[in-house]
Amino acid sequence: MGCDSCSSGSCSNNDKSGLPPGMLQKYKLSIDRSDGFLVWIETERGPDGEPMMCQHCKELLGKIREMDAGNSRVWGVVFGHQELKPLYKEIYSYGVETLYEVHDKALSIYHPEAYAENIAQIVIRTEPAVILFGATPRGRELAPRVAALLDAGLTADCTGLELNDRELLMTRPAFGGNVMATIRCTTFPQIATVRPGTFPVPEPVGDKRGTVIYWQNASCTLKDILSSEIKETAGEDISRAKVLISLGAGVKKESIPVAESLARKLGGTVSCSRKLVEKGWFGQARQVGQSGKSVAPEIYLAFGISGAIQHLAGIGSAKKIIAINTDADAKISEVADEIIVGDANRILKELERML
Ligand SMILES: Cc1cc2nc3c(=O)[nH]c(=O)nc-3n(C[C@H](O)[C@H](O)[C@H](O)COP(=O)(O)OP(=O)(O)OC[C@H]3O[C@@H](n4cnc5c(N)ncnc54)[C@H](O)[C@@H]3O)c2cc1C
Repeated sequence: MGCDSCSSGSCSNNDKSGLPPGMLQKYKLSIDRSDGFLVWIETERGPDGEPMMCQHCKELLGKIREMDAGNSRVWGVVFGHQELKPLYKEIYSYGVETLYEVHDKALSIYHPEAYAENIAQIVIRTEPAVILFGATPRGRELAPRVAALLDAGLTADCTGLELNDRELLMTRPAFGGNVMATIRCTTFPQIATVRPGTFPVPEPVGDKRGTVIYWQNASCTLKDILSSEIKETAGEDISRAKVLISLGAGVKKESIPVAESLARKLGGTVSCSRKLVEKGWFGQARQVGQSGKSVAPEIYLAFGISGAIQHLAGIGSAKKIIAINTDADAKISEVADEIIVGDANRILKELERML
């Protein structure tokens, strides 16, 4: 679709700035004026093919509620058309007050450039102090584009957020995960991507109301997408599991089927430390930690995992951690609720048999 078909008045083709089509003029938001939070509401298809709000958006909105206690405005941006209507109530129930729906059927299919241009223009209109994205594959692609259009900084892959007045303190692992750095942004708006599973999913507030604003797609870069296909990745998503049987270098390869059977009996799934991914025993999708996934299970059973800082970066939201290790002083004991001292392979077998 070329620029001729873009009907928006805000299309930069009409703009005399001399910028290439689709480029926004650089716009600096100021700390004196900016306020509130804007969250990209990522959607995915549910089992019945209907769009669903992604879990990490609920986590981000819950964290905003916790940090700000309802003092500032919260905007959401969602892309699609009337099929999104059934989601509004749910989005409001997690704290969005004003929802910008970029209303274009073509945008039901993710398009990074067009999404970024629309988000940047909505930011110019709303002037939020903070913009949050999930550090999902799409969020990681979209956030830097929005930051570049706004000439703002970006703190990627955060595992902690705190608010100091309107200043956002963003924590993320740095220097190979050996330190947890807390970062202040010197540009406005403050933009961050946050790992899914970092914060707990809050309770929705049933009777919350909000306003929807239909935003006309302002992007000139939108191309015709003739078809799209969702590729299923093998295995379950560890970031959503309620019970995780997590295996580390203290576990033998023959214990893996025992762990899988135990996980099935407990209604959970198996995850692992990076060492087992490096050995080729598991794919990267199963890895917990800084360079893997953040998880938030009700119970995290760590079999033969030492608790390196890079691993612990992924389990901060686990409700209960039980470590099974031959070394009572392994670093994981500092964060574990309980430690069982013994051979992980034997205990796995006994637990599996008992259940
Ligand atoms: C940039 C960077 C990013 C990284 N990202 C990640 C990441 O995302 N996730 C991650 O996990 N790691 C990550 N790592 C690697 C991390 O530093 C550790 O090397 C790794 O987590 C160690 O895995 P482990 O605990 O399984 O193995 P080890 O550290 O070798 O620990 C094995 C543990 O098993 C215990 N044990 C031994 N035998 C038994 C037995 N029979 N029964 C019970 N316990 C036993 C030992 O006492 C020990 O505590 C990263 C490293 C870097 C540099």
